[in-house]
Amino acid sequence: MTSAEHGTTPVKVDFHCHLDLYPDPHAVAAQAQTSQVAVLSVTTTPTAYEGTAALAHGRPMVRTALGLHPELAAERGHELPTFDRLIHRTAFVGEVGLDGSRRFTHTRAQQLEVFSHILRTCADAGGRILSVHSRGAVQAVLDAVRANPRAGTPVLHWYTGTMRQAESAMELGCWFSVGTQMLASPRGRDLIALVPPDRILTETDGPFSLEAGQPQLPGNVTKTTSQLARLWAVTNFEASFQVESNLRALLHGAKVFD
Ligand code: MN
Repeated sequence: MTSAEHGTTPVKVDFHCHLDLYPDPHAVAAQAQTSQVAVLSVTTTPTAYEGTAALAHGRPMVRTALGLHPELAAERGHELPTFDRLIHRTAFVGEVGLDGSRRFTHTRAQQLEVFSHILRTCADAGGRILSVHSRGAVQAVLDAVRANPRAGTPVLHWYTGTMRQAESAMELGCWFSVGTQMLASPRGRDLIALVPPDRILTETDGPFSLEAGQPQLPGNVTKTTSQLARLWAVTNFEASFQVESNLRALLHGAKVFD
């Protein structure tokens, strides 16, 4: 039964949040559960997975993703065997991807090696839902996705590429998770206005993203759904309902873990 039929408030969605990196992760996870925010709790290293997954115990609104952040690809590439061992524990992978910013150009080859390995592991495991970082590396991310069509469904997080690249991304079956900062920029808004609403999820990227100088909490996605409501010219309820429906559509048929 959907929220609209049920007459209840739609479930909020934070599809990219680093729960394990808040000063008090349990408090943030507990609050997400209480306030009915579906959280994709992403990790930055395979060894962080088990401890982070513990935050989801008894909290069905929290799902944990197995990740290896591109900024750590060079120093943590040796953890790939751990990644391969843990892949069977979860339907979700993230944060993974490529970072093309200047600070990390020297690790480009290792990043590509790690990301390609992860995509192959996901394909071998039957496909996963992936939260993907693509800052300054959209084309390379799309090339890797195209080379691994069975890896699953990539959700491009905090997308900063061009509209043309977004079109190729959609042709490859990618989704987008968007936050307040992306929607605060005219460029981000123009881009999201051209993406079909049924390919969009909300995210905070907390605690890295700030709101009034404070780390964003999962509940902050209500601000993002209001921004989407303005963009889509619908009510806040309709925008939240759209995002909740999108999450259900994305999870349909996904391998459920645990
Ligand atoms: Mn992140």
